[in-house]
Amino acid sequence: MPLVYIDIVLPLALHPLTFAVNTENLPVPSPGMQVIVRLGPRKLYAGIVWRILDNRPDLKNIREIESIVGKTPIVPEYQMKLWAWIAEYYMCTIGEVMKAAIPTRLKPDGFTREALDAAAYTPRSIPVYTFGPAIDSLQKLHEAFESLHRATKQHAAMIDFVERAGMDDPFRKAVPRNRLASEAIILHKLVEKKFLAVYTEENLPDGIVTVADTTETKSNASLPDLSPAQRQALTQISTQFETKEVVLLQGVTGSGKTEIYITLIAQVLFKGQDVLYLVPEIALTAQLIARLRRYFDERVMVYHSRFNDRQRAECYEKLRLGESGRLVVGVRSALFLPLKKLGLTIIDEEHENSFKQTEPPPRYHARDCALVLSKLCGAKTLLGSATPSLETYSNAQSGKYGWVTLSERYGGAVLPQITVVDMLRATRRGERISHFSRALLDKIDNTLNENRQVILFQNRRGFSPFVECGSCGWTAGCPHCNVTLTYHKAAHSLRCHYCGYTTSMPSRCPACGHDDLQPKGFGTEKIEEELQNLFPQARIARLDSDTSRSAGGYRRIVDEFSAGRTDILVGTQLVTKGFDFERVALVGILNADNLLNYPDFRAAERAFQLIMQVAGRAGRRTEPGEVVIQTSQSDHPIIAQSVAADYNAMARAQLAERQAFLYPPYYRLISITLRHRDKALLWRAAGELSRIARPVFGRRLLGPDAPPIDRIREEHIVTFLLKIEREQSFARARRILADMIAQINAQPEFRYVAILPDVDPQ
Ligand code: ADP
Ligand code: ZN
Ligand code: ZN
Repeated sequence: MPLVYIDIVLPLALHPLTFAVNTENLPVPSPGMQVIVRLGPRKLYAGIVWRILDNRPDLKNIREIESIVGKTPIVPEYQMKLWAWIAEYYMCTIGEVMKAAIPTRLKPDGFTREALDAAAYTPRSIPVYTFGPAIDSLQKLHEAFESLHRATKQHAAMIDFVERAGMDDPFRKAVPRNRLASEAIILHKLVEKKFLAVYTEENLPDGIVTVADTTETKSNASLPDLSPAQRQALTQISTQFETKEVVLLQGVTGSGKTEIYITLIAQVLFKGQDVLYLVPEIALTAQLIARLRRYFDERVMVYHSRFNDRQRAECYEKLRLGESGRLVVGVRSALFLPLKKLGLTIIDEEHENSFKQTEPPPRYHARDCALVLSKLCGAKTLLGSATPSLETYSNAQSGKYGWVTLSERYGGAVLPQITVVDMLRATRRGERISHFSRALLDKIDNTLNENRQVILFQNRRGFSPFVECGSCGWTAGCPHCNVTLTYHKAAHSLRCHYCGYTTSMPSRCPACGHDDLQPKGFGTEKIEEELQNLFPQARIARLDSDTSRSAGGYRRIVDEFSAGRTDILVGTQLVTKGFDFERVALVGILNADNLLNYPDFRAAERAFQLIMQVAGRAGRRTEPGEVVIQTSQSDHPIIAQSVAADYNAMARAQLAERQAFLYPPYYRLISITLRHRDKALLWRAAGELSRIARPVFGRRLLGPDAPPIDRIREEHIVTFLLKIEREQSFARARRILADMIAQINAQPEFRYVAILPDVDPQ
């Protein structure tokens, strides 16, 4: 029997497995193609051919593949190279990368062939319309319009069709149903009159093309007129791209980075190449999409994390089977889409840590992967930010990246005036009502009187982060995690923000029986309630993950605010991105302390970035805005740097600390998390890792430590941190660590201890 051996990736936490192809019945599939294989006694999987082997590997019982799906690869070669890089760099299996990269419907499984086929993606066939047999000339078209002069709806539907088909050779064009505005019944009447005919795309008569597939540029708007500063930045970017693969565009908020992107995108699309435009989840707003659609129309393809799997598969297949010249705007996983001819990758808000996936593996950073992707495709990368990550900043400083700055806001708008309110002093002087300083309240009052809007930022949702008994000091904790429960007043419940555990608020203290349970601290919900008492006339809304969970929730809140039907918007991080409302005159940061005190070496950098981002929401264009920062650490250097909007001062100070304390960008980090339900066993495993690793890594290895939250969902947690000097081989350190982990998991006692490396943790 003539057999050829191939390695196949399956969507499981495994490296590729070897199967055989019986070449008497099947052709040899090429890498990237989809094949159906059986694993275990019954289960069928759709896997991806990873590589063709030259010889039979030394394995027993190599199974044959069941069948081959399609005739062309579903994963392009450059994507497979990216997968390999990710698996190696982020210390995970290729199967885990495949799980993240491919929509579920394109990697179906099932216990029978029928079940597998039912789970697979089948393209939805949209009807397309052409002129019908009664219209084969302009003369006939003219007559048709005459005959419809009384049937206004049908007349309008014909006009709509002709407009969509375009006047250059409309007789050879088919228009998809979803591009026609008319009701189905009207279209049906026109088909009956033989003015229109309806087909599916697969059955179109020869020589007719579907309008949506034509690649003629159909920008509805001419490109933005750039300001002189923007034009200069654009020229500099283009010049830098002549010698550098990566350019950082550092432009203050409101400088019009998006307009520059749009101009660059147009240039790349014009060459017939694709653009990948990655944004953090919360920046992928309707506003941004509408703006891009205005210029690039149907070339824009959005890849949202709220998409269901069918929509993802549709995107994937459209790109795979379609033409190049696309603009994909998406969140981090858009990185894996099968673009045909990537010419440019843009990563906006490149400093955002949400570009890093933490759970499940691959724990990849989309920005860093995008750099690799661009390189594999010979494309350029533009990183955009008002406050670049220190990693990117130091690459720009060293000349590894090109660096273009844009320091003025568009249209002469000035940066907002920032006022710091010392909350300790305000308390001492009695200038404080609950969580608000007198100064902030006065400014809110003035702003409302001027009929302008206010945004208040508080990075905790819920009513209060913990509940305490006034008599005995008992606090409500999660039974599954080592954290306090957050009180949500509207729902009258206590919730764990880590595992989702929810219980109703007890009426009496479960420990001592007194009815003296007091909500402590404050979250967005409490701020909203207190504000409403202080400003009974104001229309107040709250934007956090509780109010925006439902599909339309976010949209509704933002639309109301944008239409001026809300006066004050209280919210978490969600209010910091992609908002561009001219009437916002005042932004308040209610408690900068919990940004500054976050236990992480990036806390100061993050606090600065966040304050700048929130502040950027105030006073765009017409009038200057104002920002109030409430803090009890008014002499913290980050506060002064924020007031001065002095990114360089922040960067210099932070980089000095990073160097002194051995952190990135001077050192590379791998955090290692161990998890198990049995605490004693877990610590024994940690001791074992320590015992093996210490002699090799020495003082580069820190730990084991119990993290601040050392139990989540019943699992206890222990962490290590590995710090590797830039000059050392990071690849070698990762290999050694991977071997050690395998060695520990190979001991029967520790087999089920999860040991999870996180490379470049955020
Ligand atoms: P950034 O992303 O740098 O914070 P944006 O690109 O969102 O800034 O621009 C800020 C505002 O200024 C937006 O409302 C944008 O439409 C407007 N704007 C910027 N540049 C131009 C331009 N060249 N022409 C017209 N409007 C512009
Ligand atoms: Zn009590
Ligand atoms: Zn919990």
